[in-house]
Amino acid sequence: MNKQHSHIDKVGWQFDNTYTKLPDSMFSKLGPTPVKAPKVVIFNHALSKEMRLDFSNTSNEDLALTFSGNLLPKGSNTIAQAYAGHQFGHFTMLGDGRAIVVGEHISKNNKRFDIQFKGSGKTPYSRNGDGRAALGPMLREYIISEAMHNLGIPTTRSLAVVKTGETVMRETPLQGAVLTRVASSHIRVGTFQFTIISKDKNDLKTFFDYTIERHYPHIKNSKNPAIELLKIVTEKQILLITDWMRVGFIHGVMNTDNMTISGETIDYGPCAFMDAYDPETVFSSIDHHGRYAYFNQPSIARWNLERFAESLIPLIDDNKDKAIEMATEVINTFAEKYKKSWFEMMHKKLGLLGDNSKDEYLIIDLLSWMHQNKADYTNTFCFLMNENIQENKIYQNQGFVSWKQQWQERLKLHNNSQEKSLKLMRSVNPLVIARNHKVEEVLKEANNGDLNPFNDFLKVLEKPYEKQTKTSNYQFPVLSEKKYQTFCGT
Ligand code: AMP
Ligand code: MG
Repeated sequence: MNKQHSHIDKVGWQFDNTYTKLPDSMFSKLGPTPVKAPKVVIFNHALSKEMRLDFSNTSNEDLALTFSGNLLPKGSNTIAQAYAGHQFGHFTMLGDGRAIVVGEHISKNNKRFDIQFKGSGKTPYSRNGDGRAALGPMLREYIISEAMHNLGIPTTRSLAVVKTGETVMRETPLQGAVLTRVASSHIRVGTFQFTIISKDKNDLKTFFDYTIERHYPHIKNSKNPAIELLKIVTEKQILLITDWMRVGFIHGVMNTDNMTISGETIDYGPCAFMDAYDPETVFSSIDHHGRYAYFNQPSIARWNLERFAESLIPLIDDNKDKAIEMATEVINTFAEKYKKSWFEMMHKKLGLLGDNSKDEYLIIDLLSWMHQNKADYTNTFCFLMNENIQENKIYQNQGFVSWKQQWQERLKLHNNSQEKSLKLMRSVNPLVIARNHKVEEVLKEANNGDLNPFNDFLKVLEKPYEKQTKTSNYQFPVLSEKKYQTFCGT
């Protein structure tokens, strides 16, 4: 049993740990493994405020003890969650192999937050892993998840990174760290896949009821709650993937255990933002076949939703054939709904109001031009918003000039004005994204003990749609032709 804070808790923690009341097979009760010499590397004050927590009277030492897991907040009830999942298409039993859910914090304004330590030691689900995490990848998750949040994209968030004072062995010895992740829940498609193969046939129904009570209580009394849940998760994932496509985000490991029921982006491993537009962009070093490439993300989301639908079958109808038919009907709406969502998003990116029969060509022509000319995805839209970006010679290219003329003609339709278009474009086109080479640069400094570049970058990423004094420092696309890769050795 880990130690808990015994003094009166002035921080404002208030736990209501509902997950621990689920069937025993769904989690293991254990605490984080204490670490040698915890030190706070970064703490997210803005997020702690949103959670109505007050650490203003907490010393740095106590903060480090808390967010390393050495001293647990009062009322917590630590567990590792069990789940399964399709990894690169193959079904596997998984679970929190290096994470511990501390508990569910209820803020004073009545919001529920799952608090999880990532990198907190071995669990019964660790398989061959060491249960630990390295500083670089945890800071990487911190900066990218916060960047996503500030881009207005649903995501888990990062509250703190604490160095453990211990070494973790990867290809080389690295500094160990624990990330505190905050999520609306950690319920995944893979958690449902776990309950369906559980020995106790009631587990699926129990977990299903739990999930809708926690996330979507309004569907509880609907005619067919299981079908409603499938519809909601489908909608949420369509919106999420559309957002990813909008900002050129590539998740990298869209396994079913990395897809949430809440619609939040989860598990930032080998993810990255695309520089030059290339639909086949892959970042993960182990994704040899491009399964999780930029342009495959919608079809993979659909594939994952099929796996989700499969696990709901027994709850949809007693007649299996009928249940499959009903689930298939929902899944079959994916393509059309996604297409509509994507076109709406592209319309906004280009400031187009209303519909025009040639819009599809206009959009595809621009993407093809970007692809052929290796134009930077983010900066091309910045250029169209009259943003002064370096490296803009490419936009003098004849192909682009004539496309731009057509676009400007199209802009005039449907009572549009330049101001209206620009306003629309500015609301969806970021000026700055967490570019890979910049992320790597600031992580290198952070690893060497200098957090200033990391914090400067984080500051600019707080307002990605607004020009700030330092914005232009982060707008350069990667200059080398060398393919960027992120590794799973996180
Ligand atoms: P991820 O790629 O982060 O989605 O992780 C896939 C699975 O591997 C999950 O069950 C993780 O908990 C587990 N895992 C990843 N890294 C480690 C590690 N260092 N030790 C133990 N388990 C791990
Ligand atoms: Mg995962």
